[in-house]
Amino acid sequence: MSTAAQLSGMRCTACGQGTVQAERYCAHGCGQTMVEADFSATGTVYASTLIHVSAPNLPNPYHVGYVDLPEGVRIFGHFATADPVPPDCRVRVVAHERPDDQTGPFVRFRFFLDGPSNGRRNENG
Ligand SMILES: [Zn+2]
Repeated sequence: MSTAAQLSGMRCTACGQGTVQAERYCAHGCGQTMVEADFSATGTVYASTLIHVSAPNLPNPYHVGYVDLPEGVRIFGHFATADPVPPDCRVRVVAHERPDDQTGPFVRFRFFLDGPSNGRRNENG
């Protein structure tokens, strides 16, 4: 049996949409149809950008962006590298839950480069 790390989240039983945040209601308007679900802790880079003016507790500059999980979930996070992050690179995803006194726990994601592009999005030119 696989012991690969997974991300905890929710999936809508009506439309199938997933999220890695603890949502009670489907963002697609299905209502209170969310159940707990696990997602892969690896994905591919959808897009990234370099932030040149950082907050006091972050490196300067740093990369942020979106990663697509194989289950169709797109998540935002910070990249653990100062190097450029091209689309379709494979990454490992590490979740950090942080308490938040106004809206409840908040999960942040950090992406670690895990391999080169697989060319998935460039198949048709
Ligand atoms: Zn739904």
